[in-house]
Amino acid sequence: MRDFEYLAPRSIGEAVALLQQHGAKARCLAGGTDLVLMMTDKIATPAYVIDIKHIPELNVFEWDPTGGLTIGAAVPFRILERSDVVQRHYPGMAESAGEVGSWQIRNLATPGGNLCTASPSAEIAPILWALDAQVTIAGPNGSRRIPVQQFVTGVRRTALEPEELLVDIRVPPPGERAGSHYIKLKERQKMDIAFVGVAAAVELEPGDGVIREAKIALGAVAPTPIRVPKAEATLRGQRLTDERLEEAGREAADAAKPITDVRASAEYRKEMVHVLTKRAIRQAVAIATQH
Ligand SMILES: Cc1cc2nc3c(=O)[nH]c(=O)nc-3n(C[C@H](O)[C@H](O)[C@H](O)COP(=O)(O)OP(=O)(O)OC[C@H]3O[C@@H](n4cnc5c(N)ncnc54)[C@H](O)[C@@H]3O)c2cc1C
Repeated sequence: MRDFEYLAPRSIGEAVALLQQHGAKARCLAGGTDLVLMMTDKIATPAYVIDIKHIPELNVFEWDPTGGLTIGAAVPFRILERSDVVQRHYPGMAESAGEVGSWQIRNLATPGGNLCTASPSAEIAPILWALDAQVTIAGPNGSRRIPVQQFVTGVRRTALEPEELLVDIRVPPPGERAGSHYIKLKERQKMDIAFVGVAAAVELEPGDGVIREAKIALGAVAPTPIRVPKAEATLRGQRLTDERLEEAGREAADAAKPITDVRASAEYRKEMVHVLTKRAIRQAVAIATQH
């Protein structure tokens, strides 16, 4: 690993000033589970490593029934996975957090780092896409908030400017009768990245089984995570039947643009999107029905 200078700012302003000062020679460090490997392999050779874990705003983990959930960019996956609030209000997010690596990795790795690495198979992405999350970004001109769907712009590319950092992820509160579910398809039980990731988030009308809102997102089957508006429209305002589920599953498979690589073929991935989308929707509706 190349020598570097370790910097530990205590405020967002200080971190932004360091990013401005050092530009492309600097990299932010959250859990380090991607960055340290990139540095060991010399894929990244920053001269300055800016540890963001001592900045108070980046350690916020707050739930407010009207404002929703705020997840600071330095909060690790293990907190999400074990949080009662996340398990109750965003079960798909708790499932997604629990799928990352091992518990040792999850004690370090952050959803913020997962988004910033912007790997097509990033674990947290599909559920954040399905929950319509937003991200707060800080830079020299203050802060801005954008939908998470606009944050990842390509394979390992984000909307962050070199002198900006990710501050937090904001997830809106779920509706009264809401449910969500995430399914990861992988080869090994643990410590494997997804061939396919599917997230579904639904809200039901009060009193009956009509789906008021449905959101479906896929990971690992396109350069960036994607939503499937066609399948969502198929379900919206309808009761869940086998025919609608089949149609939504097919529409999700049509929207997927996977590649063939050493881990799985494109055809297999598409077929699995079909199967897992149906499963994720059914489970999200079952959870919503319990409210
Ligand atoms: C053994 C192992 C198993 C893994 N398993 C999985 C898995 O199952 N699923 C999965 O998706 N990933 C997995 N990963 C990858 C990794 O753990 C995740 O991507 C993790 O979420 C990265 O978060 P981090 O906090 O460690 O990021 P870091 O490594 O600290 O940073 C990652 C990148 O984001 C940048 N960055 C981080 N935070 C900010 C910020 N606030 N503002 C601006 N830039 C920032 C860094 O500069 C760096 O470029 C695994 C990794 C290992 C080593």
